[in-house]
Amino acid sequence: MKRPDYISWDDYFMGMALLAAKRSKDPSTQVGACIVSGEECVGQRPNTILSLGYNGFPIGCKDDHFPWDREGNFLDTKYPFVVHAELNAILNAQGKSLVGAKLYVALFPCNECCKAIIQSGINEVIYLSDKYAQTDVVKASKKMFEAAGVKLTRLETQTSKIVLDFNVEMI
Ligand SMILES: [Zn+2]
Repeated sequence: MKRPDYISWDDYFMGMALLAAKRSKDPSTQVGACIVSGEECVGQRPNTILSLGYNGFPIGCKDDHFPWDREGNFLDTKYPFVVHAELNAILNAQGKSLVGAKLYVALFPCNECCKAIIQSGINEVIYLSDKYAQTDVVKASKKMFEAAGVKLTRLETQTSKIVLDFNVEMI
């Protein structure tokens, strides 16, 4: 008989997004994104991870030389430099077609990532939290997603926690 408590595809991919977020050096917000092939993706089996990303600076922009601050002069903050998780995941796909793909991300995407998501051909965004729903950034994002016909799904996870234990002797 098969093990009953295996994780669902949705929890698996959201878990990958959360794991990618652990790579972020941002002291205040760690976000990860996982792009997965959908049923209509040409040349890809469904449920294949196409790309992962997390919020960070572009290649060559060293974390020790660029600021992670949120306040101060614009050039002394992270904002002009940081690449959000969703955009990084799209760019990390390195030319792979994302048409018909799904994007898993913990936080509802901002308007800038929204534009990149739409233009890449991703047609579904699956998220956990929409805590900035009242901000203009998220309102703009939803307006564009709706106009472009991108499906928005708030994930109801089947498990509240996934624990990774590197102590494999315990398996
Ligand atoms: Zn963004």
